[in-house]
Amino acid sequence: MRYAMILDRRRCYACQGCTVACKVANATPPGTFWTKTLSVEKGKFPNAHMEYMPLICNHCDNAPCVHVCPTKASKKLADGTVQVTASECIGCQMCMEACPYGARYFNSDDKPTYWSETGKQSEYEAARMKEHVTNTVDKCTFCAPRREKGLTPACVATCPGVARFFGDLDDPESEVSKLFKKYNPKPYKPEKGTRPRVFYIE
Ligand code: SF4
Ligand code: SF4
Ligand code: SF4
Repeated sequence: MRYAMILDRRRCYACQGCTVACKVANATPPGTFWTKTLSVEKGKFPNAHMEYMPLICNHCDNAPCVHVCPTKASKKLADGTVQVTASECIGCQMCMEACPYGARYFNSDDKPTYWSETGKQSEYEAARMKEHVTNTVDKCTFCAPRREKGLTPACVATCPGVARFFGDLDDPESEVSKLFKKYNPKPYKPEKGTRPRVFYIE
């Protein structure tokens, strides 16, 4: 099993559907974006154009976040994903320093809320933000809870541009394997030597 994600930048138009789908699926706190899409202006007027870059944890094969973790709370699993065990995390944030992609977020103890008018968490927030244990670090899980139910990641299932693909690179019949063979997609920042499992079709 070698889970991977392929992001087709030709089809992404920065609608942020993935961003919202991830927030709904994982109830991440304000300021936390396990995925997001940047809009970048390229070229000069009158030949300027916009390019869009969806970002996500790369579930790196040579993950610096795993190497630096003093408690081994950050792990590379047999399925190829990188996960954090909250009960083993001491919140030192060394993994955040080590990640070259800014993919990790610290869960502070200030009871974050989207309800800035009241400053109090809604019932929904109070119930679901417990999933993000205070004083620990977390990040994209490649939607582990959804995969356990046989579902594809929320950002992939939602993407209206059909720009995101997820599957097993060890299965030659999987969509990601076929796309990989056809387009030879490239990882982000390969010079970092992290060997990402997220690849981009340009
Ligand atoms: Fe770790 Fe960052 Fe790689 Fe994700 S993108 S596995 S957080 S180094
Ligand atoms: Fe490991 Fe947690 Fe420290 Fe990150 S913050 S390096 S996961 S103990
Ligand atoms: Fe969020 Fe799941 Fe997509 Fe990761 S795979 S960015 S957790 S929706």
